[in-house]
Amino acid sequence: MNPDKNIRVTLASRPVGFPKESDFNIEEVPIPEPGEGEILIKASWLSLDPYMRGRLDDGAGYADPVPIGDVIVGAITGEVIKSRSPRFKVGEIIEGRLGWQSYAVSDGTDIPGNDLRKIDPSLGPIQTSLGILGMPGFTAYFGFLDVCEPVAGDTVVVSAASGAVGQIVGQIAKIMGCHVVGTAGSDKKISYVVDELGFDSGINYKTENLDDALSKHCPSGIDVYFDNVGGVLTDAVFKQLNIGARVAICGQISQYNLEKPELTPRNLWQLIVSQAKVQGFLQGQYINKHNDALIRISNWIKDGKLKYTEDVTVGLENAPTTFIGMLKGDNFGKTLIKIFE
Ligand code: NAP
Repeated sequence: MNPDKNIRVTLASRPVGFPKESDFNIEEVPIPEPGEGEILIKASWLSLDPYMRGRLDDGAGYADPVPIGDVIVGAITGEVIKSRSPRFKVGEIIEGRLGWQSYAVSDGTDIPGNDLRKIDPSLGPIQTSLGILGMPGFTAYFGFLDVCEPVAGDTVVVSAASGAVGQIVGQIAKIMGCHVVGTAGSDKKISYVVDELGFDSGINYKTENLDDALSKHCPSGIDVYFDNVGGVLTDAVFKQLNIGARVAICGQISQYNLEKPELTPRNLWQLIVSQAKVQGFLQGQYINKHNDALIRISNWIKDGKLKYTEDVTVGLENAPTTFIGMLKGDNFGKTLIKIFE
């Protein structure tokens, strides 16, 4: 990759169904110069996340869509290489939503009102600021501990269990003394969450009968469901919720690439029977508490109680293919693009 140019990935066309490589353009443009009060960042890592799929559509969402021709939205971690701002020094490492590009200029914010985050490299390798020590970690921490209100002994089901968020949720649930069952799309992913991460068991939702498998792995019913995927899996879990169960609606990835939305869930009456709480959340609603999570998660990593896996692809030009693969389940852990060494 040419280090003397800004390589950026822009939106060529709005995807219909699953994105295609032709929906993206790779462009080489001059490296921008920071103006007064601005900084220039050289990106080392780009995070690829499912929420980006929603930003490629032209519909109403919780954030504005990416305009055609614009750089795709996404968080990078990198080094400040020029500074005309009193708030940032050359050499500092920052993380922020500055897009799929190798160099970015910023006034110290990524979206209006939101400051770039200065990263403490002593907490871990800097790319963890995009994973376990960043947005996916905050999602798992607050979605599980705040929304799911776990109690030791609870049976917890977490979907997309080997992914960036799911792998952390399951391990925090084990720390809290819960019985943890993960669902994922391959036997290799199931072996990983059970043998390496210490989940109690797992279900391959692509090959097993969901009703039978959930009954077998959750013989006392389900107290907590951390829902990353939605669709038929969520329908099946709703049928086996215990009275007073708690469900965190974190993501619905099974629906993101459908041209027509599914008519699920249709079995909401199950929630009357179980008197369950179902709550959607966004990790950003906890922004004022992110630092508390950062301290606790990094201590758990230091104590060997939390592990993480990263799925790293080298080269920004490979971001579209890697992103499409992640949406289809090709990733194993947190999906990252390594831009520069
Ligand atoms: P991830 O799990 O690392 O990657 C996505 C995974 O989704 C894939 O590996 C695949 O795993 C699974 N998947 C794809 N299509 C599926 C389908 N049809 N049915 C079931 N599983 C499917 O992604 P992540 O970053 O950790 O995000 C997980 C979820 O959390 C996403 O829905 C995301 O939108 C959501 N999220 C929400 C927030 C929030 O603030 N609420 C923040 C971050 C993420 P398998 O091989 O197991 O199918």
